Amino acid sequence: MKTKIGLLYGGKSAEHDVSMQTAMAVIKALDLEKFEIHPIYISTSGEWIKGQQLMGPVTNVKELAFSNTDRLPQAALAPALFQASEQGGPLDVIFPLLHGPNGEDGTVQGLLELMNLPYVGNGVLASSAGMDKVIMKNVFAQAGLPQVKYTWFIRSEWENAKDDAYNKVENELGYPCFVKPANLGSSVGISKCTNRSELERAFKEAFQFDRKIIIEEGVTAREIETGVMGNDYPECSVAGEIVPKKEFYDYKAKYEDGNTALIIPAEITETEYNELKEMAIKAFKALDCSGLVRADFFLTREGKWYINEINTMPGFTPFSMFPLLWKHTGVDYPQLIEKLVNLAKERHAEKQ
Ligand code: ATP
Ligand code: MG
Ligand code: MG
Ligand code: MG
Repeated sequence: MKTKIGLLYGGKSAEHDVSMQTAMAVIKALDLEKFEIHPIYISTSGEWIKGQQLMGPVTNVKELAFSNTDRLPQAALAPALFQASEQGGPLDVIFPLLHGPNGEDGTVQGLLELMNLPYVGNGVLASSAGMDKVIMKNVFAQAGLPQVKYTWFIRSEWENAKDDAYNKVENELGYPCFVKPANLGSSVGISKCTNRSELERAFKEAFQFDRKIIIEEGVTAREIETGVMGNDYPECSVAGEIVPKKEFYDYKAKYEDGNTALIIPAEITETEYNELKEMAIKAFKALDCSGLVRADFFLTREGKWYINEINTMPGFTPFSMFPLLWKHTGVDYPQLIEKLVNLAKERHAEKQ
């Protein structure tokens, strides 16, 4: 019997468009002999729209969903969408191909938990803790993982005492520093600052995306990433290096310019790779991750590692780092999807 997969894509976050690209790629890669695909699109305003079961190749995922009338204004009604058909039972597994808040952050995962449906990727705790860079870094600090210095503010603290906030950053971190919304991804809202006026602009920018921001000491280092996959016995892929042609790996460099080089496998020593692997697994376990994670690190010229972050739903097109890392490790894109679906089922079965 075919596995009935509900593909959840789009979403309310600033990473909506990235999710659209991913959904298209996953739909193309899934073997229709093995899987029955049920697309469920979430619009930027949060409307849930279920498309027809896919019977053949598609060219446009957005059209696919909009051609359908099965629309629900809010997530609270979403359970109705998780039926394979009106008469049929529930879908076998949900694949939330969503990045950022309201998707990668535990909210959708919580809904799926309550519905007792298996789903691909991280659970509620890892998703929410991994989405908030401050919480994530606090957990990593407790686990003894090396990190750059950081500080954080909520909007009201800043609004009430802006100069105090800037002074604190200058005294504790200095320049260059990176200002980021606490809960986002794809480099949206992130700025590198080298002076006070840039810092002021960066705070304003980041607070447009979140009520909480994090500021980090800027390091000059290579950016090395690895993929972790598994549940109780996570495994690491080979390492990859990102070489942005710009100041840093910003949104444009990630999705628009296409001239950022991904070097896989990264040219690091065996000792460095072993250190990386140990830290990545430690991070995966510290946040109680399951399914998949892309762990991002900095490696300085002196050979010192810092963990930057983990992503609980990393970019997932065939040209994204996570799938490419696994391809070089011997797991191609269709196999990767199947593996993740199996891990979802395995975790669900263990909970019962
Ligand atoms: P994604 O989820 O897409 O990986 P993100 O939005 O979570 O990205 P980060 O990975 O934290 O953002 O940062 C984006 C990029 O900014 C990094 O890949 C790196 O190029 C640069 N960067 C971030 N923090 C620092 C830092 N402390 N020092 C130097 N460079 C940094
Ligand atoms: Mg991230
Ligand atoms: Mg991300
Ligand atoms: Mg990153």
